[in-house]
Amino acid sequence: MSSFDFDLFVIGAGSGGVRAGRIAARYGARVAVAEEYRVGGTCVIRGCVPKKLFVYASKFAEEFEDAVGFGWTTDKVSFDWSTLIENKDKEIDRLNKAYIRNLEGAGAELILERATAVDAHTVMLASGRKVTARYILVATGATPFVPRHLPGHELAITSNEAFHLERLPSRIVIVGGGYIAVEFAGIFSGLGVETILVYRGEQILRGFDDDIRNHLATEMKKKGIELRMQSDIARIDRSGDGVRVTLNDGAGFGAGQIMFATGRIPNVTGLGLDAAGVELTPHMAVKVDARSKTNVDSIYAVGDVTNRVNLTPVAIREGHAFADTVFGGKPVEVDHSLIPTAVFSQPEIGTVGLTEQQARQGFKSVDIYKTSFRPMKHTLSGRDERTLMKLVVDGDTDRVLGCHIAGPDAGEMAQLLGISIRLGAKKSDFDATMAVHPTAAEELVTLREKWVPGK
Ligand code: NDP
Repeated sequence: MSSFDFDLFVIGAGSGGVRAGRIAARYGARVAVAEEYRVGGTCVIRGCVPKKLFVYASKFAEEFEDAVGFGWTTDKVSFDWSTLIENKDKEIDRLNKAYIRNLEGAGAELILERATAVDAHTVMLASGRKVTARYILVATGATPFVPRHLPGHELAITSNEAFHLERLPSRIVIVGGGYIAVEFAGIFSGLGVETILVYRGEQILRGFDDDIRNHLATEMKKKGIELRMQSDIARIDRSGDGVRVTLNDGAGFGAGQIMFATGRIPNVTGLGLDAAGVELTPHMAVKVDARSKTNVDSIYAVGDVTNRVNLTPVAIREGHAFADTVFGGKPVEVDHSLIPTAVFSQPEIGTVGLTEQQARQGFKSVDIYKTSFRPMKHTLSGRDERTLMKLVVDGDTDRVLGCHIAGPDAGEMAQLLGISIRLGAKKSDFDATMAVHPTAAEELVTLREKWVPGK
């Protein structure tokens, strides 16, 4: 009989922690999971899930406009923000309960309190209860980063608050050029809010393929979103019900809200990791090895708190691999390469593998196949929107190194492309695959002409 209270103590009931706890319990481990906020974590409570529901909500405006070209009359539609919030909250409550049921059903004890590490095997709960465990798993996620040096930063919201606004502002300023900034710009703009995106760099979505970045920027502008590149916020002042935003070039404007989407930082503050002797990276993430073990043998960490690839499915995979390794007798190292990903911007982006820029750095000969076209739906809707698809191919081996799409359902396509690219598909395999007609995805198997710069 173990002298510890538990075999595993998980701090944080988000995607990674819940998966690890459930699988470890299934292997027969005595598991406790502590959560200070709500079970489900960022993704379920204030991230991917409510965000995607908001994306659906925001797309109806264009759907109604597009429907007219197909014979519909839609002149009496209206939108009610509070209905959306209420229905979204109900769905999040349902998921929250399902997560609790799954955890408890697997035999884990759920402790709804903040937990902090005391040493390599001990955790202190907010209530004062001390608990020991053979292993501790840190799965505390990340939190929005706010540039606190800016005068007036406290007047701004982050994505956390965006899910609970009492009413929609008539104008919003979004700061940042990453996933969250472009996704929320699409959401607010679709819901009728005048949207200004302020980004310090030259083009949104740094790290994505340049053609995709430029394409998305063009399409966002067509939808009326104002993109202010190479701009930064100098200060924020209260003004009436809203704020007055001053940029570093001196330009200023009023807005109902300003939202920072300026990245996320690992949740390590006050967790007692220093007391337990756990090393952090220079970016203040928990430093782990390929099996998610920290420098302390009994303490592991998974998900955003380790700042490897900050995506929900990655955290889940890391949590599962941890449980397999430590409790299932099956050592597993998560492969962080070739991760397909989607940005739920409007239009959506789906991508897997190397960008053209990355490929050109690592390969002698790179062939590019790309096409931009008007989706069939818009032949009747009349909407001026284009889809972009791009294949990055190793010119020496014919292997497809990357695929990048901006257009409807790009995320769905990226999921399946992820399989073929993982299997090492060649361009000739794409060519040999029969098209599904009429779809947008068929363009991926009918691209024949190499792109020649300047042609
Ligand atoms: P990102 O890291 O994607 O983007 C942060 C943005 O903020 C960058 O454009 C960055 O600029 C800018 N920025 C950072 N610091 C400052 C500053 N001090 N002043 C001005 N601008 C600044 O973070 P997000 O917050 O958008 O998202 C966090 C993570 O969550 C993502 O990286 C992703 O892993 C995950 N996520 C995934 C989603 C999905 O799968 N669809 C959806 C939402 C989030 P610069 O480029 O110059 O560094």
